[in-house]
Amino acid sequence: MKASSHKSWNPRRFDARAFAEAEGVLDGEEPLASFDRLAAEIHADGAVGSAVRWDAQGQTRPDAAGRSAVWMRLRAALDLPVGCQRCLAPVVVRLEVDRWFRFVADESVAEAEDDQSEEDVLALEPKPDLLALIEDELLMAMPLVPMHEVCPQPLSVSGGELPDEEAAGEARPNPFATLARLKK
Ligand SMILES: [Zn+2]
Repeated sequence: MKASSHKSWNPRRFDARAFAEAEGVLDGEEPLASFDRLAAEIHADGAVGSAVRWDAQGQTRPDAAGRSAVWMRLRAALDLPVGCQRCLAPVVVRLEVDRWFRFVADESVAEAEDDQSEEDVLALEPKPDLLALIEDELLMAMPLVPMHEVCPQPLSVSGGELPDEEAAGEARPNPFATLARLKK
């Protein structure tokens, strides 16, 4: 197997088998603007200078039958300014991905094996778009309820419904505590 330079791998039509057999290494930095779905999460007042940094590493490992299976480690990181669910101001969340993927012949095999496997199983063909995969993984790494640890400004009284309900829930006396007091 020939040694391969970085430039010989096309991340948009990724040849995972050749990459693994060459023990390829690939890295990149892509502007956030080239990821439509991630960019859609940006808060209107958030800074938009951030980039997705990622790297991939290919490897073959023998499977149970002794055949050479195609593996890839994918890492990606991004600082994404999204809306805080408590105060609605921008909050920068750090999204990080570090996982191994195993590649199988096609999508039907991938679907069948994915449920039974700890690792994620992807199809070799059609050749996957590595950048779309990175975007999928980063979106999945997104916190369900992004929030500041400590919000920079006090909550407005007319804030969103979620903070109001939470505040009401905390203030409301626990009915069981009241019952316990009555029983004494
Ligand atoms: Zn906040």
